[in-house]
Amino acid sequence: MIVAMKKGATKQDIDNVIKNARSLGFDIQLNVGSEKAVIAILGSATGQLSVDTFGVMPGVDSVTRIMKPYKLSSKEFKAEDSVFDIQGIKLGGKQVVVMAGPCAVESEPQILETAKAVKEAGATILRGGAFKPRTSPFSFQGLEKAGLELLAKAGAELDMPVVTEVMDPRDVELVMKYATILQIGARNMQNYPLLREVGRARTPTVLKRSLAATITEWFSAADYLLAEGNQQVILCERGIRTFEDTARFSLDVCAIGNTKRLSHLPLIVDPSHAAGHFELVPALAKAAIAAGADGLLIEVHPNPQTALVDGLQSLNFANFQRLMTVLKQIAQAVGRSI
Ligand code: PEP
Ligand code: MN
Repeated sequence: MIVAMKKGATKQDIDNVIKNARSLGFDIQLNVGSEKAVIAILGSATGQLSVDTFGVMPGVDSVTRIMKPYKLSSKEFKAEDSVFDIQGIKLGGKQVVVMAGPCAVESEPQILETAKAVKEAGATILRGGAFKPRTSPFSFQGLEKAGLELLAKAGAELDMPVVTEVMDPRDVELVMKYATILQIGARNMQNYPLLREVGRARTPTVLKRSLAATITEWFSAADYLLAEGNQQVILCERGIRTFEDTARFSLDVCAIGNTKRLSHLPLIVDPSHAAGHFELVPALAKAAIAAGADGLLIEVHPNPQTALVDGLQSLNFANFQRLMTVLKQIAQAVGRSI
């Protein structure tokens, strides 16, 4: 249930609504926008609550039942787009933020060289996996703590925030020490203990869409993070599993438009994991920006042929540089910048 306050509602009016909700056993989340305050009333029993409970209170403009399973990530709760400040980089605003780097951190020269190259081409955030979700338990699983250290070192040297995946609730504390942005991978989108733990962190978090999740399921997972208090949730469309098998996954362009229509959260697109092949990455990256994505997450490797993970879909430095030149033009054409 969403209680929208009138424009001139006082702090006392807002507090009274919150107090009333809490006394009835509900949780609340407050969003104070530039125009008005909105209070989400949360709990499994809101269905039994009459809208009049709050409708009659001073300062209340409207009370709406949200029939969607997700609430906190919805535009009903927060009409204005969320813009996050990540060490001075604004995500969700006019700038299209490019995050780039290798699938996995492999060595100090590899991550450092990549950081330099992607920064020079215009990327502002460095990606690199230290804990890797692999289909086979016998494949390279990432350098773990050593990988986090190398990633953080490269980020510090190049003055770039870093994004890296956390797979296990027990590792959240460790990963948070090194990462500027946490990443929840597609395979963990509905790992609720992990969502709860990351939700308690006050670290910006990329929530990848599961390869088999509807938008509703994805946004509901985002609500887990938001409900625990992590306000900086970044949605990431990375392709879903369809019957089509010429690409690794099918990038859901509808999801780009629908996310911007239905949610206030910033949306980035990962063209690399959808494409599965470096030759397809530019087309998807270009489409994503044209369709309204707020950022991109792209895999780049100094020598894709020798990459330990995802070499086929990784761009080399020259290809990344070329792509960035075109992306800057596209961003400009749609009223944005890179
Ligand atoms: C990744 O970003 O390297 C990754 C494993 O992505 P996803 O979770 O989307 O498969
Ligand atoms: Mn990868």
